[in-house]
Amino acid sequence: MTQNNPWTSEDSLNTYQIPRWGEGYFGINNSGNLCVYPDKNPAGPIMNIKDIIDEVKKEGLEFPIVFRFHDILRSQVKKLNETFNETIKEANFQGEYCGVYPIKVNQLREVIEEITDIGMDYRYGLEAGSKPELLTVLAYNKNPRSLTILNGYKDREYIELALLGRQIGRDVIIVVEKLSEIHTIMSVAAEMNVEPVIGVRAKLSTKAGGKWSESSGDFAKFGLSVPEILDLIQLLKDEDKLHWLKLFHFHVGSQIPDIRMIKECLTEGARIYTNLRELGAPIEYFDVGGGVGINYDGTMSNSSSSTNYTLDDYIGDVVYILKDICDLNNTPHPNIVSETGRAIAAHHSCVITNVFGKINLTDKRVVDTTPNDKDKLIIKKIKALSTELNEKNYQDIYNDACIIKDEAISGFKLGLINLTERSIVESLYWNICNRIIEMTQDEEYVPDEIRSLKSVLADKYLCNFSLFQSAPDAWAIDQILPIVPITRLNEQPTNECTLADITCDSDGKINHFLGSDGNRSTLPVHDLKDKEEYYLGLFLTGAYQDIMGDMHNLFGRLNEVHVYCDDEDPTDFYIEEIIKGNSASDVLEIMQYNSKEMCKIIKVDVDKKIKEGKIKPRRGVKLTDFYEKSITGYTYLSSEK
Ligand SMILES: *Cc1c(COP(=O)(O)O)cnc(C)c1O
Repeated sequence: MTQNNPWTSEDSLNTYQIPRWGEGYFGINNSGNLCVYPDKNPAGPIMNIKDIIDEVKKEGLEFPIVFRFHDILRSQVKKLNETFNETIKEANFQGEYCGVYPIKVNQLREVIEEITDIGMDYRYGLEAGSKPELLTVLAYNKNPRSLTILNGYKDREYIELALLGRQIGRDVIIVVEKLSEIHTIMSVAAEMNVEPVIGVRAKLSTKAGGKWSESSGDFAKFGLSVPEILDLIQLLKDEDKLHWLKLFHFHVGSQIPDIRMIKECLTEGARIYTNLRELGAPIEYFDVGGGVGINYDGTMSNSSSSTNYTLDDYIGDVVYILKDICDLNNTPHPNIVSETGRAIAAHHSCVITNVFGKINLTDKRVVDTTPNDKDKLIIKKIKALSTELNEKNYQDIYNDACIIKDEAISGFKLGLINLTERSIVESLYWNICNRIIEMTQDEEYVPDEIRSLKSVLADKYLCNFSLFQSAPDAWAIDQILPIVPITRLNEQPTNECTLADITCDSDGKINHFLGSDGNRSTLPVHDLKDKEEYYLGLFLTGAYQDIMGDMHNLFGRLNEVHVYCDDEDPTDFYIEEIIKGNSASDVLEIMQYNSKEMCKIIKVDVDKKIKEGKIKPRRGVKLTDFYEKSITGYTYLSSEK
């Protein structure tokens, strides 16, 4: 970047690939702050994330914080339903769209309330996969036109609850995941004297690809094979209950990266549907499950953190492939159900963390490399390497330097070289590495070894959050999540860093980031300033990440802020609700501790020291109060300096 060509927010949009993963919801304002466009329109309302940060700080809320943008949630539900409805109309398709939101993607009550509220405008319902989820959808899906779909393995109680739902007027469909469930359904239905409506989940032979491809194929955990589906039909016919079977379902995995796999699944599914109709099953609903992926890494490719299609492409394929196959076979068009979860929820929430410091494992020290006759051979060798290093020989020099460093360590253990000599070798080794990284900065092709060196040697920005709580997929399956500084986006980021969280776990780090040419091993960031907080946002955490987080190191749930757009307000937003995250006593109680008891133990010991005259009474009271205050406080780092 030269003087004539200063860094602009345009450069930041590109560096952090914001338009490619942001779906139009995110942008940068004139002051270089990251903003939310709830209407996907930079000319419409703009919510400045820094303003929201300032407002919650005034309330005394501590970081990390989840920001939940309810307008984005509503907008995604609207987009899914309207695109389906428009495509159905355009294709002259005879069925309707009646989708369901699978609540496992994010079960938070406020999320469900928002989705069912906007869902009232459409035939949009809920899906459950376990008993607690079933209890939830029965209470919260009150849209009389919409479906309540029940997946997952079921016991008697599950089926009784489902039929309770039918009795109070919910349009409940029980999806048979394994053949034996039908016997339980029949027996409970007879006992309760309620007619169930059932669906059948098929195991497709098409593999979906991506990280969840095990959900399909012959050995999948859920669903009936083709012979089993035929058994089910025969069984229902024998019992004169074939009219119960109204839905055909498949779900081949989440985050399907490649549209070709989706087309294959739809084709196989549609063929099964037409055949089942021919066999007399009165199926009215064709349920394509979930699987619509998110462009997490911005590549728009079939990499596992991305997709090579858009939601519009997906919907077009569902409607047209189904229509074509039905028409070819003169089969009536069914209603279309999708259980799209990730694509609904991912964009609406993010985690804001404050960077509280940085570490560099290899500080750049100056070492004299002038040859000296008294030097041991190993020192002579590494000094020579350091002097000879240039753009052409860096790979050879790097290899030799690695050998010398290893030799130095062995020599040290054997007592052949002393601590000072070891220090010279190590310092020169890291000097050489750092210089190689600088040399290869602008090179297009850099050997893998050197590339990973760059990530190892980069600064580590220490972020106040737990990867295991807030971005479990980044840890478990190397999912890339967009990470962007919240401020200074009109300033050139002059550092490259990796991120470390505050868990005592060496896995608590992020060293895969999105970049304009695919994945990168470091994140471009700005220098930290003494008197100014630096905030990073982890985006697209609304699907699964929000709710799968675990208690590693007992950090627990985050403070949460619910933000709504208000065009009338000068800031374009208002905070509707603040939900406090876990306190230390909350997480301790989950682990069976009694925080009152713990406070008592500390108090007894303090009192003892007071009696012994080792602590002054006034000081003792302060210490007990301080322990009590900490146990009711937030689990993460406090930003008070
Ligand atoms: C998880 C799941 C979904 C949601 O899938 P997404 O990929 O998040 O859209 C839908 N249906 C079933 C049966 C599921 O298990």
